[in-house]
Amino acid sequence: MLAAKDIYDIVLSRGDSLFPLGMSQYLSNTNKPIWGLLIDPDERRFHTLFGDIAPEDLEQFNTSFHHTKAGYRVNAKGYFPLLTSDADVFLISKECLALDAKDVEALIIHELCHWYIDSGLQSKKPLGIGSTDKLKAKTWYRKTDQENEHITRHTLPFCELLCAVSARAVHTYKSFSNREALIASAMQFDIEGGFRV
Ligand SMILES: [Zn+2]
Repeated sequence: MLAAKDIYDIVLSRGDSLFPLGMSQYLSNTNKPIWGLLIDPDERRFHTLFGDIAPEDLEQFNTSFHHTKAGYRVNAKGYFPLLTSDADVFLISKECLALDAKDVEALIIHELCHWYIDSGLQSKKPLGIGSTDKLKAKTWYRKTDQENEHITRHTLPFCELLCAVSARAVHTYKSFSNREALIASAMQFDIEGGFRV
């Protein structure tokens, strides 16, 4: 099972290498931290996974516990105004941590695509989307729960970015033999009726 430090390293390394503007540069430009929260469905609480989260900030998150598989929130203060910092928050549930390392990596890549779109970076410093990415993305988009798109943010542009990023990830990291397998893992909780954010 991956440790908290491993998760942080994967978020940073994939965030740095797979996108035109890297995660480290983004955090430095915006002068904010990234915090990792572990979702504990048994205790119905968030715990610190990584980052220096003050107890009062952790309590703020726990005023509104939400059980999902994984997530990424840009500027968490918009959701929790009493936070001491407008941090970005990466979330992953206990049961997802127990998946194979490559499947955790795929989920992280999925969440990083949310980061890149929600932060506005895909508009300001876009990753190029090729015609093959666009074709593949249409197929994946059709499999998502489109009526919940306002909640899931699994829009067609999201699927296009995921397809483009997955091609880079397969080339760079080789955890998956091809991008179809990576995307299938990244979207395993989001197709055929299930949905999450
Ligand atoms: Zn998602």
